[in-house]
Amino acid sequence: MSYRRCGRSGLLLPAISLGLWHNFGAVDSYDHARAILLRAFDLGITHIDLANNYGPPPGSAEETFGRILREELRSHRDELLLSTKAGYRMWPGPYGEWGSRKYLVASIDQSLRRMGVDYVDIFYHHRPDPDTPMEETMGALDFIVRSGRALYAGISSYSPDETRAAVAILRQLGTPCLIHQPVYNMFNRWIEPGLLQVLEAEAVGCIVFSPLAQGLLSNRYLEGIPQNSRAAKPHGFLRPEEITPEKRRAVQELYTLALARGQTMAQMALSWVLRHAAVTSALVGASSIEQIQENARAPAAAPFTPQELEAIDRITGQTARDHGG
Ligand code: NDP
Repeated sequence: MSYRRCGRSGLLLPAISLGLWHNFGAVDSYDHARAILLRAFDLGITHIDLANNYGPPPGSAEETFGRILREELRSHRDELLLSTKAGYRMWPGPYGEWGSRKYLVASIDQSLRRMGVDYVDIFYHHRPDPDTPMEETMGALDFIVRSGRALYAGISSYSPDETRAAVAILRQLGTPCLIHQPVYNMFNRWIEPGLLQVLEAEAVGCIVFSPLAQGLLSNRYLEGIPQNSRAAKPHGFLRPEEITPEKRRAVQELYTLALARGQTMAQMALSWVLRHAAVTSALVGASSIEQIQENARAPAAAPFTPQELEAIDRITGQTARDHGG
């Protein structure tokens, strides 16, 4: 595994990180989840990403992780970089979601209990809150870091303007914003026209989620919807109607390009997000040991040629804005 510096901080992240959004809930097999996570760690994937609501049911992915840590990885805590988040609905009533200090502090305390740890390495505000003053939300992140519940603060899915404002407030408070977590993949380019430039200018790291578009950018759905896939699961966030004939055709064409590069489709999709110097890590999910092994090899690939990048833009119907380095 290669490790990349997160913004201008002292922290290095693995080029591939593992998220426990799916496949680590109480509805999933504990033994299987444990096997995937331990294999990831052995491959050098030192960063594990969680959130209060991952499951299902919400909270159970943190419990699964806590059990694996307790039973298998206790002596390796300092080799692991652990993140969690709060922002989406977690418990009933007015204090169970969004961005108040009341919600964020209660939520991190619940997360620490579920995982059985004293602190997480990164705590994120999971989504911008249009109604809570940014000063309150960032003040809560600063408090969570100063009180020892987290080592670093991050934000997720903030727009370029919101990011600039959050970074400025956190800097003033003395707790720099370590990292931003946005969605980014060949089908979803929203970070290219503004956010990446803000993160580069502010020296904030960037870990991109759903780099495989939840599995679409792999060979998973080329022949239909496999029974054990995310799109087939009732609680899966990828809906079958999102796997359109156009997307399938595009992936088929991309797959030919990947093979010519000596990569699998999933590996090319991961190398592609990592081509930007501003992208610190690609945050993947996995439902098998084979998938995580395949994904872990992506960072070793050759750089893209301008012709390959143009072909990817053409196939995915995107206008090239910034090819990165
Ligand atoms: P991906 O785009 O990597 O999708 C993961 C899914 O793709 C897997 O579950 C698997 O699907 C399939 N897959 C993975 N590797 C392969 C492979 N080599 N070949 C074929 N199929 C493969 O990421 P996710 O959507 O899972 O998101 C990753 C993480 O990002 C989450 O776990 C979470 O930590 C974070 N996240 C953050 C959000 C935020 O708001 N901040 C929102 C969403 C995610 P299958 O299960 O069908 O096998």
